[in-house]
Amino acid sequence: MAPIKPSAHLAEVRYEIRGALTRRARELEAAGQPIIKLNIGNPARYGFTVPDHLREAIAAHLHESEAYGHEQGLEEAREAIAAQQRARGAQHVEVERIFIGNGVSELIDLSLRALLQQGDEVLLPSPDYPLWSAATILNGGVPRYYRCLAEHRHMPDPEEIEALITPRTRALVLINPNNPTGAVYPRALLEQIVEIAARHRLLLLCDEIYDEILYDNTPFQPLAEVAGSVPCVSFGGLSKVHRACGYRVGWLSLSGDPMRTHDYRDALQLLAALRLCANVTAQWAVIPALKDTPTITALTAPGGRLHTARKAVVEGVAASKYLDLVTPGGALYAFPRIRSDRMANFNDDAFALRLLEEESVLVVPGSSFNVPNSRHLRLTLLPQPAQLSEVFVRMERVLERMATE
Ligand code: PLP
Repeated sequence: MAPIKPSAHLAEVRYEIRGALTRRARELEAAGQPIIKLNIGNPARYGFTVPDHLREAIAAHLHESEAYGHEQGLEEAREAIAAQQRARGAQHVEVERIFIGNGVSELIDLSLRALLQQGDEVLLPSPDYPLWSAATILNGGVPRYYRCLAEHRHMPDPEEIEALITPRTRALVLINPNNPTGAVYPRALLEQIVEIAARHRLLLLCDEIYDEILYDNTPFQPLAEVAGSVPCVSFGGLSKVHRACGYRVGWLSLSGDPMRTHDYRDALQLLAALRLCANVTAQWAVIPALKDTPTITALTAPGGRLHTARKAVVEGVAASKYLDLVTPGGALYAFPRIRSDRMANFNDDAFALRLLEEESVLVVPGSSFNVPNSRHLRLTLLPQPAQLSEVFVRMERVLERMATE
């Protein structure tokens, strides 16, 4: 009998953060080989815990979580999100324009599904968080990539963005602070980008899931404040800043001129209603997460574990003959590069496979983030700093072998 044929759309979609390399790592582990996994930003796997008061909020409301909830999310949680967005200067933020989902992941899909017609174009960063490309393609859109090169400290170039715009372009996606590069965009750059979006009537979609994970006092500028009356969707969630990936709670907040976003808001509501509601239980954690003092700063400040991990990575790169790095200003990753003056021919997929097979370290090749011929690899800053230092010793051994073979 003929095999069941999956959707042809999937041929263009990759998600290597949990792809073939990860499956190989699981096989090796099952065979008894311990693997250092640096492939995914999942804090609880590395000993980080969700703050107690978030857990307590869930426990206290467990009995109120048994029915389907509002399709847009718990009103009290949306009020806390609205208050945060207003405090950040976003315009026209109302609970009716906020949607809580099962993680930002679900809302990325929903936001594009509510927007795109077949063949519409979406401006995406390269490198991107690959779900943005996947969701664009799966909803009939076409990704158009603007580059965020190491040579430019991984900052987008507004001129390049504008040159990519066609009559089919509908939206401009930003990831700030950025995964995978760790770049945090300054206000002046965001102002230029908003100006382009306003002139070409594009919807701004800004993934700010790492909004409070910042190092060295790097300032974070929420896009909605700069966007003002320009339609803007800002995304945030519990997974990273609050270390609660497994709760599956994220939100989107629509800001800007309500007259221009009315129909889009209604489309979001219809799609939200079709899937009934997000996990109700975990939404109770949003209220203390946003109202109480942030707990992430103890980890990102000097002496904090994430800060020390980043230092270990910077030192590992400095000691390497082959690597360079734009030090991340935010988020949970480093995106080092193999220097072309030290190794002319380099294939990131082949390197990542060798690193796994020969040295039991799992990283994600840069090309997995929609960068052609990438010389980068991404690793998370979540392991213990000493383990990260050990990873650099192992990477150097593989690079040395590749250079001398
Ligand atoms: N957006 C970015 C930039 C991410 O890095 C991630 C997860 O790594 C997500 C969205 C998905 O987050 P969530 O756990 O809220 O679905």
